[in-house]
Amino acid sequence: MPRRCTVCDHPERRGIDETLVTGAPYRSVAKRFGLSESAVYRHKTEHLPARLLKAREVEEAARADDLLEQVRHLQGYAGATARFRKRAQHKNRRQGVAQ
Ligand SMILES: [Zn+2]
Repeated sequence: MPRRCTVCDHPERRGIDETLVTGAPYRSVAKRFGLSESAVYRHKTEHLPARLLKAREVEEAARADDLLEQVRHLQGYAGATARFRKRAQHKNRRQGVAQ
């Protein structure tokens, strides 16, 4: 059973991660949150990258959803435009207007 990470278990883990991401030195982070430097170092090198990657994936998934929504919207718009054009052509034909 691997030892639990005191940083991951820390109630202010989010704040610690955010501080580490800004490039703050381990020593000051450790001191500020009452952790050992080695725990902060281990967390930053072994746990933080995975967390950041996950956060990025979530962000990208959200962005992909937005994009999909936009595409659906555009497709709906294109469909309506095509129907309108078809109707207009039909009307013009009946009135003998050259296409
Ligand atoms: Zn950790």
